[in-house]
Amino acid sequence: MTVALDTDVKRISGVGSAVGARLQKLGITTVGSLLYHFPRAYEFRGNIKTVASAEDGETASFVLTVTAPPTYAKTRSGLMIFKVPAGDGTGACTITYFNQAYIKNALTVGGVYRFYGKISRRGKHVELNSPVYEPYSESLLPLYPVYPATEGFSSARINKLISSFIDRPDTVIPENLPEQVIEAEHLMSRTEAIRSIHHPSSLEAIASAKRRLAFEELFGFALNARKNRKTADALPRAPFHKCSCSAFKDAVGFEFTNAQKRVMNEIYADLTSPDLKSPMRRMVSGDVGSGKTVCAQFAAYVASENGYQTALMAPTEILARQHYEDCKNLFSTLGKTVRLLVSDMPAKEKNEAYESVESGGCDLVIGTHALITDKVNFKNLGLVVCDEQHRFGVGQREALLKKGVGAHMLVMSATPIPRTLALVLFGDLDVSVIDEMPPGRRAVRTAYRDEESRDKIYDFIKEQVKAGRQAYIVCPGIEETEDDGLIPLEALSADFSPEKYDKQVKRRKAAVNYAQTLSKEVFPALRVGYLHGKMKGNEKSAVMKAFERGELDILVSTTVIEVGINVPNASVMLVEDADCFGLSQLHQLRGRVGRGKYASYCILMANDPGQNAVSRLKIMEEENNGYKIAEFDLKQRGPGDFIRDNGEKIRQHGALKLRMAGALDDARLLYRAFEWAEKYSKES
Ligand code: ADP
Ligand code: MG
Repeated sequence: MTVALDTDVKRISGVGSAVGARLQKLGITTVGSLLYHFPRAYEFRGNIKTVASAEDGETASFVLTVTAPPTYAKTRSGLMIFKVPAGDGTGACTITYFNQAYIKNALTVGGVYRFYGKISRRGKHVELNSPVYEPYSESLLPLYPVYPATEGFSSARINKLISSFIDRPDTVIPENLPEQVIEAEHLMSRTEAIRSIHHPSSLEAIASAKRRLAFEELFGFALNARKNRKTADALPRAPFHKCSCSAFKDAVGFEFTNAQKRVMNEIYADLTSPDLKSPMRRMVSGDVGSGKTVCAQFAAYVASENGYQTALMAPTEILARQHYEDCKNLFSTLGKTVRLLVSDMPAKEKNEAYESVESGGCDLVIGTHALITDKVNFKNLGLVVCDEQHRFGVGQREALLKKGVGAHMLVMSATPIPRTLALVLFGDLDVSVIDEMPPGRRAVRTAYRDEESRDKIYDFIKEQVKAGRQAYIVCPGIEETEDDGLIPLEALSADFSPEKYDKQVKRRKAAVNYAQTLSKEVFPALRVGYLHGKMKGNEKSAVMKAFERGELDILVSTTVIEVGINVPNASVMLVEDADCFGLSQLHQLRGRVGRGKYASYCILMANDPGQNAVSRLKIMEEENNGYKIAEFDLKQRGPGDFIRDNGEKIRQHGALKLRMAGALDDARLLYRAFEWAEKYSKES
């Protein structure tokens, strides 16, 4: 049976309009999107423990023989409890089910089953509570998929639906990669990959399936980027001529760094070279504080000298206002007019801004999304600048560009990304890199420490708070409040080891308690706040605001603080289990301190990290340059971490999901996917 991927799910037997509506909530509308609804994790039913060795509270599989018929009792509230005696030679275990009368006949005395569930131990009494069971055989699959589910439609039902396709041996899912590519790259077929990701026969099968599906994503992503670029290149180009820039240089109060000079030259060439046919599409990437703004200001200056207006779009009102103040100071001395346009502004001022933009009375308008609305009409828009590129979708950028004819575009990104990686991931943009900081920037002093130094570190944090500073403490695991025994899809690779993973889970569990004891036992006299991923948006922002206002001394959090928090008074960042983080993540985290005038510190705690982790932590101690760190990370761990950490940015950029690509541990696969895409896009 060849599966038609564009068939409406509602046409699958058993899926009516009610189920269809629930599936739609999960983004499943067609058979294709159903088959690409990948497990979020797996129950590792192949992780078989003995009754004697299992710990209380552990979720695992047990191969047990039913030793006697079930007994049952009725509780006062009318609940039926079935107890099935069983054992495995190392000990006896009672299996309990509630209100499931069919169990009486389903489990036969003397039968051997694989039970998967959570064990509880009270002295000698061992109990398994409502485990799933399968008659035992050697060929049972070791991994059972767990899907993102929704109310009224469980993971098990999704599994059943998917199974109706992939369990049929004659099912064929039409191949979407060229045969030549599959052969040259030794990839699984699409059918096999989809089958293996849902019903894997082994860990190796999942690893191969992920590799194939990642390749497929990247290939599609790259083709799409090529197409976007072709479309953009076919657009008209606002013609700019060369102009003198010395007045601009004189007005800026500092010497440009070499990196800034290089980037400005690249921008100038894009804008003014007479033989160019299409408008500029350039990304300037540079660490926070590297001085991207002046490069954008330079581009705006060149535009205005050519009689064109510039629109600068920032993701938040705060950032827009900052840029506005900055630009007003600089451009007023150059005889240029700058306007602000944000939603939260008196109507009168807004109208003045609209008028000034439309009449050509202003050279530069700075704002938020408010710039995209229909009310904004330009006299002569020649340049669009987007700050913090990842917050804007391609659509928003295009909407702004359309307000001019042949307008040029510059996007500024604060993520240090190796050039080679940027070229493929942002394939429809040219990339300029500011890999050098302005002089006089004080580096964040970074130290890698272990458990032995813990008390000293706490004392240090107390001292800093006493001196009026604030501190961040980041733990990787606070949101993992329970051990559900599941292995997330992304953790699975060919060298996955259940023992190693068990250790990590235990460590993360410890982090939960750690977060709670910090305020009660370690810092009872200080004001400690918590942030984690499971909090509601308004709860989160309340805590963040309190920290920003200085009403909290310490902020304990997961990595959610990576986004958009700016507290110049914070001088210490303590990262727990730092070896669990990728380098680019550690670098982003560290960037939260050292933003004010105070000497700042980053302490990376790691206990017994592996060899590779130690070399990563050492790099962090020695290196403050985000590009050098990113290069090292790319070499050591491949591009997966980067793609995962920046998934949102890249996704919005390419308007394609990169779910499997986050698992890539080999940069070569990424480059090859892009090379192939290049080849095929030329042929088509
Ligand atoms: P970002 O790249 O994070 O946007 P900014 O452009 O805001 O960084 O620059 C950060 C600060 O550094 C600003 O106060 C800016 O005026 C200053 N700055 C930028 N370039 C230089 C330079 N070459 N010399 C000295 N200060 C600079
Ligand atoms: Mg900036």
